[in-house]
Amino acid sequence: MLRQGRAAGKIRARPTVGRSVNYFGARELDVVVIGAGQAGLSAAYHLRRTGAEPERDFVVLDHAPRPGGAWQFRWPSLTYGKVHGMHSLPGMKLTGADDSRPSSEVIGAYFAAYERRFGLRVRRPVEVSAVREGEGGRLLVETSEGAYAPRALINATGTWDRPFWPRYPGQETFRGRQLHTADYAGPEEFTGRRVVVVGGGASGTQHLMEIADVAAATYWVTRRTPVFREGPFDQERGRAAVAMVEDRVRRGLPPQSVVSVTGLPLNDAVRRAREQGVLDRLPMFERITESGVMWEDGRTVEADVILWATGFRPAVGHLAPLSLREPGGGIRVEDTRAVRDARVHLVGYGPSASTIGANRAGRAAVRSIRRLLDRVPA
Ligand SMILES: Cc1cc2nc3c(=O)[nH]c(=O)nc-3n(C[C@H](O)[C@H](O)[C@H](O)COP(=O)(O)OP(=O)(O)OC[C@H]3O[C@@H](n4cnc5c(N)ncnc54)[C@H](O)[C@@H]3O)c2cc1C
Repeated sequence: MLRQGRAAGKIRARPTVGRSVNYFGARELDVVVIGAGQAGLSAAYHLRRTGAEPERDFVVLDHAPRPGGAWQFRWPSLTYGKVHGMHSLPGMKLTGADDSRPSSEVIGAYFAAYERRFGLRVRRPVEVSAVREGEGGRLLVETSEGAYAPRALINATGTWDRPFWPRYPGQETFRGRQLHTADYAGPEEFTGRRVVVVGGGASGTQHLMEIADVAAATYWVTRRTPVFREGPFDQERGRAAVAMVEDRVRRGLPPQSVVSVTGLPLNDAVRRAREQGVLDRLPMFERITESGVMWEDGRTVEADVILWATGFRPAVGHLAPLSLREPGGGIRVEDTRAVRDARVHLVGYGPSASTIGANRAGRAAVRSIRRLLDRVPA
């Protein structure tokens, strides 16, 4: 990876990536982008437009094996036609996709073509384990292929790598199977089973509508009463939803899930499922038993499977050494910039955790970083 050369009496590596290698062996460049999902690719595209060269001025690192961001891991029955609203990446439209094909394939192929078209040279699989303070005002990004020393960071690591499993008493005694949306591979494995689905978001309702056709019984359990949204999700509603999440992030609170502010879309399939009783919701149970779940009043349901459709949290553990977290548990972000460290930008985080939000955040982060780098020469 690194070619050796002699400089200032020390053996220094001359990098094939970055402009130079510092005393500690870290490759120096302007920007590291972590994550090649919608948010990271949008940022990389806008970096390219400012004239930045991949591998010399910036790198995009991703630990997944293939292009597609988190989409590559979504279950095959989540066809492109079932996806709520995928916005194309900037500069290249996704057109003519077959609605019946899995979204993982459609979007994986689209992202691969996008990376090729704009020469983004995503480096994968590369795991980023930690980002910490480096030398001379630079950050130090520690990865499975060595260290980088950028002047700024765009963190675009999404949420898929951090499924959220709530804890309930008795959970460890359950003799059936427990799995999370992140493990869901389609309805077939639930044939003839009694399944409790926990979670009032879009994933929970989609799992139920698929599983109900083959399962012996399904039960839907949610903490709050689900709100079904009539009519299209217009721009005004979109703006209002984003503003609510934005407000939390500004106050340093952990971002909410988007569905908690947008509600569940009431389409024909959902209407049918409601008529058939598939989406009759039960309140949250109090504990888990060996053979099912139990409510406060002593009622029980026998189950073979508990499917936790309880969402995801931002995958930002590698940023911990920078101490960006507020006492409220979240990272305070203004536009895309971390309030505690102006070199760090979070895209696809909180209010920008949607395909359209990620597009915009990528552009905003690059603009802001450009201004920062112009102000503070290397
Ligand atoms: C089931 C489901 C359906 C959805 N449907 C829609 C929809 O219809 N419309 C919509 O707008 N939004 C949808 N979303 C939200 C959607 O995930 C976002 O809109 C968007 O795709 C997220 O893009 P991203 O780039 O932020 O994250 P991701 O696509 O998750 O990309 C993050 C990338 O970072 C990489 N990464 C993470 N940690 C590290 C690390 N430490 N080191 C190296 N690489 C790392 C991962 O490998 C991944 O490739 C859905 C979400 C889910 C869970």
